Amino acid sequence: MEKFKNFQFNNLLEAVQSKRNLSQEEKIVLEKAFEFAQKAHLGQKRKSGDPYFSHPIEAALKLAEWGLDTPTIAAGLLHDVAEDTFTSLEIIEKTFGKEIAFLVNGVTKLGKLKYHGAKNGTSKEEYLAENLRKMILAISEDLRVVFIKLADRLHNMKTLSALPHLKQKRVALESSEIYAPLAYRLGMQNLAGELEDLSFIYLHPQEYKWLSEKIKDRFEERVKYLEKAKPIVEEALKKNNIVPQKIDYRAKRISSLYKKLLRFDMNLEQIHDLVAFRIIVNTVEECYAALGIIHQLWPPLPGRIKDYIALPKSNGYRSLHTTVFCLNNKTAEFQIRTLQMHEEAENGIAAHWAYTQSKGTKEFLESGVVFADNKNLQWVQQLKNWQNEFSDPQEFLKSLKVDFFKDRVFAITPKGEVVDLPLGATPVDFAYHIHTAIGDQCVGAKVNNKIVPLDYQIQSGDVVEILIQKSKKPSESWLKFVKTEGAKRRIKSAAKKSASGFLKIPSQTEFKIIVKDRIGILKDVSAVISRSHINISSVNVPKGVNFPAIKIICDTNNKEKIEKLVVKLRSVDGVKEVSHRLV
Ligand code: MN
Repeated sequence: MEKFKNFQFNNLLEAVQSKRNLSQEEKIVLEKAFEFAQKAHLGQKRKSGDPYFSHPIEAALKLAEWGLDTPTIAAGLLHDVAEDTFTSLEIIEKTFGKEIAFLVNGVTKLGKLKYHGAKNGTSKEEYLAENLRKMILAISEDLRVVFIKLADRLHNMKTLSALPHLKQKRVALESSEIYAPLAYRLGMQNLAGELEDLSFIYLHPQEYKWLSEKIKDRFEERVKYLEKAKPIVEEALKKNNIVPQKIDYRAKRISSLYKKLLRFDMNLEQIHDLVAFRIIVNTVEECYAALGIIHQLWPPLPGRIKDYIALPKSNGYRSLHTTVFCLNNKTAEFQIRTLQMHEEAENGIAAHWAYTQSKGTKEFLESGVVFADNKNLQWVQQLKNWQNEFSDPQEFLKSLKVDFFKDRVFAITPKGEVVDLPLGATPVDFAYHIHTAIGDQCVGAKVNNKIVPLDYQIQSGDVVEILIQKSKKPSESWLKFVKTEGAKRRIKSAAKKSASGFLKIPSQTEFKIIVKDRIGILKDVSAVISRSHINISSVNVPKGVNFPAIKIICDTNNKEKIEKLVVKLRSVDGVKEVSHRLV
């Protein structure tokens, strides 16, 4: 037992130390966490029959591989202790301090939500959206919690075969719908791909079997081919004084290959990047030089040169890609990048986090790094540029918090996309953020499935849905409450365009409609108004009344039109009473 412990623990220490130096103090913390978790899980087994403790060890090893700090790795070891054993969080805090307890608690909270099917009225979509919401909130609190959850999930996916069939499907679906996209957004492409591939096995077992058999020979053939081309590349680079750090191959992930095949009528001949060269060089200049050298050797396929260095992908990915007519006129893809770009491409924000932290002081570590998600993580790129401007990591972190994460809220679209808005932002800001046309035609909004007034202040995690009316124009009154510059600009310019329009002439009618609240009532009411070719200027719905009085202001003062509309409105199912006045 003792011997086994030593072996596993030394393994972990080695993994950490291959990435960074470890102080004696940190070793003690890790050892304490190791022994504590081992004891807490003693006698517990995984579904596979393995001792339970093998799972937190694997998670901690992954966190070490990502180069993360000691509290995160310790929390990785402890991550299931509070949930699955009799050990309480208080004891963890007493033994390991606030920071580690905070991380363990964060992971435990993320794990609490369980999907129980339609039984208790939760649909799959609602469940996924709720989980995503939790993840985003966790990110805005402390990104390290999410790293632990991702390491946890990766190992659970690797050992999924031991679980019952139905549970496999559920976990795989969750991994491919939440965890893989999240990892991708965080720039952790390697992890995202691994999760996608593991999910693919369970979500599409037949396709998986078919495809893995089909590509096996082709794959070997491709590797042999690239093996022949490799010395030619090396020689040409050497002639130009470029000694790459590494030239290897990367095989296309089976799940992404499958997605691509769907677009190409399942024709494998169309796939050029089944196996691609990957060249790691020393500097950005060498990246471009190497690209030129390869193009001198073999002509490039038109339209296949991609410069993700000058124009990084939205998740921060940087690299040069090209496909050339290589030996025997067969096509081959090359990816060229520096070692830093490579590490970031593999591990994304984790690599960046580790990098920043390795430069950090003790104060910096203790300040508790706080990150949040942005719509597409464009800030990963900005982060990288910024960090160079700060010699003091603490200053860097401070500016980061102030500029990016303070005064921000994160709203979610019904499809689960994250929208980053300033504090106090309203559904109108949200609508304009999605699309100008959505903002212009916005007549109402639902937050977490309840109708809210347009000046409602969005809270982080709110699921916001915008109700629109075709050919509707923005209302000047919105200027009183919108927060984003984009929305303000757009409303003002629309006002100018209709100079004789809604700005000055008091030509509006306010309808007061008493309704029996039901799903879709607002949609039906606004549809009736739309069909009468009357523009809705604003909608106001009070909360929490059985028979709410909806107030709708319309851009018309035409008596005849108004009277006709009142009749139509009264015939809408659920409408109790309609009155109106000019405003
Ligand atoms: Mn776990």
